[in-house]
Amino acid sequence: MKETSYFYSIILIIVFGLISSLLYSDQNSVVTARRIISEKFKIPAEKSVKIAFFDADSTLRVAPSGKPSANSPDDVAILPMLAGPMRKLEQEGYLIAIVSNQAGVMYGHITLEIARQALVKTINDLALKGVTIHYFDFAENEDSDRKPETGMGDRLAGLVKEKLGCAIDWKNSIMVGDSGWKKGKDLEPDGTPGDDFSNTDRLFAENLNKKYGGVKFIHPRDFFGWIKLGIKNFKDFPSLKEFLETHPEK
Ligand SMILES: [Mg+2]
Repeated sequence: MKETSYFYSIILIIVFGLISSLLYSDQNSVVTARRIISEKFKIPAEKSVKIAFFDADSTLRVAPSGKPSANSPDDVAILPMLAGPMRKLEQEGYLIAIVSNQAGVMYGHITLEIARQALVKTINDLALKGVTIHYFDFAENEDSDRKPETGMGDRLAGLVKEKLGCAIDWKNSIMVGDSGWKKGKDLEPDGTPGDDFSNTDRLFAENLNKKYGGVKFIHPRDFFGWIKLGIKNFKDFPSLKEFLETHPEK
């Protein structure tokens, strides 16, 4: 009897160890340093890399604190309907990159480290939904890194060439971001007034386009399909909460 319970205890310990090591390795397999391409990215045989750039705030996440961007590492709520389209990009061989403007650092609202940790939390939360992010960068100053300037795109392109020995397939590269057509300034492609907070994501894509001849801008409402449910933008946490009350995530 004693031997049997001893045997079962050993089995339990082994199973527990296996489960926790799996969880632990999963948590640790996400990219945690900015400007480093994850080893998870598989170099394509044709040595040409398609990049899918994503904005972070109001594209992948909103801040439960109500601030325009996360003000602590845990101030992150992932937006709905992301997993399917983003997993598809990974299957299609895209290098999936987050490029975020984080001027809150320059203004002293948050530190560089908090901005990094909140993006890593975003990437971790996406990993739990089966979404892989291969790379992240953010612009903390008003300089050539800040969208709509192309610094963050130029840097990644340089790394792809230098570290992976690949060219960029600009024609098939995309930029997904909620700052498309600025309210009170721009008209949307169909002629209706813009409703977005800014236009820096669209202009980032257009500037990369002028420079390299590619990069298609796609609004997240179209890319993730929010517009089919009548959603143009998730501007803040209350708008996400309201949506989830009527459309609970499966
Ligand atoms: Mg945004």
